[in-house]
Amino acid sequence: MKLSSANIENHLDTVYDAIVVGGGMGGLSAAIYLARYGLKCLVIEKGKGRSLWMQETRNYLGLDPNTPGRNILTHGAKQALDWGADHLRAFVEEVTDEGDAFAVKVKIGKKNSRHYTLRSKYVIAASGVIDVLPELENMQNVYDYAGYTLHVCMICDGFDMWDQKAVVMVSRESQINVAFVLNWFTPYISVLTNGFTVGDEMKQKLANHGYPLYEQPITQILGEDHKMSGVELQDGTIVEATTGLINMGSIYHNQYLKGIEELTWDGENLVTNNMGQTTHERIFAVGDLKQGLNQVTVAVADGTLAATQIWRYIRRSSAPRKWDE
Ligand code: FAD
Ligand code: FAD
Repeated sequence: MKLSSANIENHLDTVYDAIVVGGGMGGLSAAIYLARYGLKCLVIEKGKGRSLWMQETRNYLGLDPNTPGRNILTHGAKQALDWGADHLRAFVEEVTDEGDAFAVKVKIGKKNSRHYTLRSKYVIAASGVIDVLPELENMQNVYDYAGYTLHVCMICDGFDMWDQKAVVMVSRESQINVAFVLNWFTPYISVLTNGFTVGDEMKQKLANHGYPLYEQPITQILGEDHKMSGVELQDGTIVEATTGLINMGSIYHNQYLKGIEELTWDGENLVTNNMGQTTHERIFAVGDLKQGLNQVTVAVADGTLAATQIWRYIRRSSAPRKWDE
């Protein structure tokens, strides 16, 4: 059932078996499995997540390579609802452990927001990350290319950059190292720092590889119809490139978990076992938020495993169903 501020009051006394924070790839997969195990689950999705921004999915077995993330999300949310999951458009602000259950505080609506607390036995953290983009004066110019020919994920899109002239956009020196991996796909790499100065050792390494370095601020990305032709810098220089990779780090959607002491973090990623269980036995993590490879395939499999382990725990603690009951 779709929940909203209009009907949520009826669900405040429900203790869900699991609340899934984030209705992206991992979260929806988990919800489909949870619902098909007959468990009561609620997916809470804030909107505008990472997979919404994915314009095509070229590496998922059986999917048309042109499938955009938004189609998978729409289809997946419908599937989860059809099997009996609840779905709420809201932002999860905080999760607190009350012993038997979690209190999940949500905010509905950006303006005139309403706040509610929902409860569940298990939590699946499926809230992912979001890529940091270069801050240009006209952000629409960035959105016109990011996710199309200006990529954020080399594993996803390295193939589509093969032997093309590519820019690598970074915000600190260590991020330049991606160029020495990207060169598997293309050696025609120009590095753009958008304003910061690079140390001598890195400068030398780039020079040894023949990769030009530009330290001027970026004015705009050039091209049309989402296809890059180059990048213009503040001093008027135009760096020719038909593709690019933004490697400026990620923002992790994990704030709501920061009050839970039992969790173990690897940087900002959650550490889990091979069923997605964190070091808090009733909190699971799937997809980009957990340690490992940031891929749709992985997030979907993670959702399957986490939901199955939760079902095992709940099933084992439930009385067996007998014919005569
Ligand atoms: P997401 O799918 O991002 O889902 C997390 C959800 O949680 C989001 O919808 C977000 O809105 C929500 N959320 C976050 N915080 C909160 C909160 N506090 N309350 C409520 N909801 C919240 N992968 C591939 O395998 N192949 C590709 O070709 C590919 N291309 C990509 C192209 C682009 C441009 C990008 C950005 C990514 C691409 N990826 C690709 C990576 C892929 O999108 C991710 O690995 C995948 O979506 C991870 O799934 P997830 O469930 O962990 O996160
Ligand atoms: P497979 O897909 O079985 O691939 C292994 C391949 O190796 C086979 O094609 C086989 O012919 C080949 N092979 C074996 N030995 C050799 C050899 N010596 N030389 C050359 N080739 C060889 N899973 C779900 O997620 N959802 C479902 O709804 C679902 N329903 C199912 C319904 C049925 C009727 C069955 C049988 C299975 C179902 N499954 C379902 C399970 C799913 O099919 C498997 O989990 C999945 O196919 C495993 O993938 P795999 O690559 O390990 O094996």
